[in-house]
Amino acid sequence: MIEKKGIPTSPGIAIGKAFVYKKANVKVEKHVLNTEAEIRRFEHALEETKKQIKELKKKALKEMGEEKAAIFDAHLMILEDPAFTDKVLKYIRERGLSAEEAVVKTARDIAAIFEIMEDEYMKARAEDIRDLGNQILEKLAGTCRELKLEEPSIIIARELLPSDTVKIKRENILGFVTELGGVTSHVSIIARAMGVPAVVGIKNLTQTVKNGDVVIIDGYRGVVIVNPEEEILKTYREKMEEDLRQREEFKKIGKLPAVTKDGVSFEVAANIGEPSEVYLAMENGADGIGLLRTEFLVMGSEKFPSEEKMTKELKKIIARLEDKPVIVRTLDIGGDKPISCLKLPKELNPFLGLRGIRLSLNRKEIFKSQLKAILRNNTRGNIKIMFPMVSLVEEVTEARKIVEEVIEELKSEGVKVGKTEIGIMVETPSAALMVDALAEHVDFFSIGTNDLTQYTLAVDRTNEHVAYIFDHLHPSVLKLVNHVVEKAHEKGKWVGVCGEIASDIDAIPILVGLRVDELSVAPLFIPRVKRIIRFITYKEARELAFKALKTQTAQEVRELSRRFMKNRAKNI
Ligand code: PEP
Ligand code: MG
Repeated sequence: MIEKKGIPTSPGIAIGKAFVYKKANVKVEKHVLNTEAEIRRFEHALEETKKQIKELKKKALKEMGEEKAAIFDAHLMILEDPAFTDKVLKYIRERGLSAEEAVVKTARDIAAIFEIMEDEYMKARAEDIRDLGNQILEKLAGTCRELKLEEPSIIIARELLPSDTVKIKRENILGFVTELGGVTSHVSIIARAMGVPAVVGIKNLTQTVKNGDVVIIDGYRGVVIVNPEEEILKTYREKMEEDLRQREEFKKIGKLPAVTKDGVSFEVAANIGEPSEVYLAMENGADGIGLLRTEFLVMGSEKFPSEEKMTKELKKIIARLEDKPVIVRTLDIGGDKPISCLKLPKELNPFLGLRGIRLSLNRKEIFKSQLKAILRNNTRGNIKIMFPMVSLVEEVTEARKIVEEVIEELKSEGVKVGKTEIGIMVETPSAALMVDALAEHVDFFSIGTNDLTQYTLAVDRTNEHVAYIFDHLHPSVLKLVNHVVEKAHEKGKWVGVCGEIASDIDAIPILVGLRVDELSVAPLFIPRVKRIIRFITYKEARELAFKALKTQTAQEVRELSRRFMKNRAKNI
């Protein structure tokens, strides 16, 4: 039995068999004597890789549509191109290289040709070549790269990127454990959205755990147990049942309004990242969607999706909302989220680069097509539009003007567009400090504390070496939140919070005390947030918030909040 402690990033308890997802990193012989046998090995691995790609394509077609599936056609074309296979065979025959060495060299040679191309799109193809090379290597080594789960499993990986998780069938995921990552990394967000537990930051786990080992994830304590003793397994089975029972109870609480004991109301909304999550949001009692991340429309697509396609995809979400309000955030890509269907420049500091609204204003045709897709769906006036990563007033006025132009264009086509409120994310210190000026140009604000913390504390939110600095409860961040709420309210504007802070148990009473209007969280957290709000009074929460603003460290804030909650609500 092995027990390890990591960072809990999605609540819940899961017990199941391990599926260890390893990317190839195989040590092999450089030279071989029997070249014919080596050629046969290569040809077999090539066929297996093609088979795998065809299967992935079928799956992508069914689950994500034609555009996202197109990438697999491109991969097949590369593998069928003699320029690739002949080169591998030549290396084996003429230089006596092993199949692995020949594949590595071929992939490197061909990738190098793409890499020096001017065209950014062609440049990016180098990655495809390397990726294909790796896939063949894995077939040669007999390890499995695709996340193909035959049965419900616990996924164990060094890290999981969007391109990895897109391959998994959701019904078969019991939970995630990764060696890298933090609360705001992709795997954590996905786990919370899916309602499965996740623990991240456990070193060397992929070396210790084998496929099929029995694993327990405790997503509350951040504990992972491999091959537990019978006694422990029994205790955890009971805990899991109790947890499931409690979740059912929580769902009932989710249906109640979020009102403090002294009668102050808050909205509790859901953050979602794709159509399938709306169901989870509604089931858990969301008052609306406080953040619809629209990146799912373009992730993994070979071509930028058409306006028609985006309209259809968004409709899937809107149709399930029963007229509840939804804040649709325009594309927040660029920088750290490279998208294969856009030729984006390589940047030295992507988090400070061409991302969010900056990219939209730089590629107006794309921005307009997304706005049209959103607005075509707003026949009933329950859709609000939000711009990410704003740092200047001019960005807002320019973006707003484009929205107005698009509305006029649609109206002239005879499309009925309902009233559309326009807001911005407050994710940069500049936006937070300029909120009174910005309030003249927007209808609402939503504070994105994930990025606001990153930019305020100057700490890369994805970098584990400085993860100890990243705490959205740092008083500097709270001061900015307080400033935004005060100034926005003076101008009669509404303020939500949609960063991960809104589901942090220590933070909820403070956000209540700072009098934000809405907390938007992953669907699974909605009942928990409502439960806390219903347990406290606004008056006392306000006193707590003002004490928190006077502290010097995030730790002090957490201690204050824990003391506050201890006497008020047990077992939250
Ligand atoms: C944020 O920055 O807090 C936010 C909600 O946006 P994202 O996590 O998508 O960057
Ligand atoms: Mg953000």
